[in-house]
Amino acid sequence: MTEITYHLAEIRKRVSAALRACGRPENSVTIVAVSKGQPARRIAEAYRAGQLHFGESYVQEALEKIDELAAVPIEWHFIGPVQSNKTRAIAERFQWVHSVDRLKIIERLDTQRPFHAPPLNVLIQVNAAGERQKAGAAPAEIHSLAAAVSAAPRLKLRGLMGMPPASSTAAESGACFSELRQLRAELAQLGYATDTLSMGMSGDYEIAIANGSTCVRIGTAIFGPRN
Ligand SMILES: *Cc1c(COP(=O)(O)O)cnc(C)c1O
Repeated sequence: MTEITYHLAEIRKRVSAALRACGRPENSVTIVAVSKGQPARRIAEAYRAGQLHFGESYVQEALEKIDELAAVPIEWHFIGPVQSNKTRAIAERFQWVHSVDRLKIIERLDTQRPFHAPPLNVLIQVNAAGERQKAGAAPAEIHSLAAAVSAAPRLKLRGLMGMPPASSTAAESGACFSELRQLRAELAQLGYATDTLSMGMSGDYEIAIANGSTCVRIGTAIFGPRN
């Protein structure tokens, strides 16, 4: 068994245990393997171990690997900051984007999503902790952004993404995840039904699952440290 295969099996076990511990159904969390900084051959290795979803943070780096792995039916998630000059590549080459946080990006992705492809799955990134130079929309902006994504014919609103500040304690992370869950519930009350809460990384995915995460983005715990 390779290191990646072993790590994936271990994480699947821990995800299942975290779901059981809070009475949630088995398989109600998608694992996105965050492969930034990893070569295509290690992504292929994880794919052979049954991993279907991969997350990338840098467009140029991602495109090279998407091309290299064109024959492999991977579902690609863009999770990094979205610059407006990179929206076309995201709209054309990814199935998901987790990090939409402003109107201009929504308009561009909608215009640039090819007509032969299904609608692009969109998560709105929330800066729940109000950190200064962090990506993400303020909680007060979520409603209008959700309305814009819902009205965009080439986009599909799937939910919210967020993360606690890097130095958070377990309790602080839990509070941040719980706020995201609440924001999604508020959206549902306003008529924006979604099915995805993208929360939790290598260091905090079990806390995120306890707070309703349906999608964990895990890099180093699968692939080891990035160089
Ligand atoms: C890098 C990254 C991750 C994965 O982080 P790990 O700590 O390596 O699991 C998850 N989400 C985002 C947005 C990232 O940039």
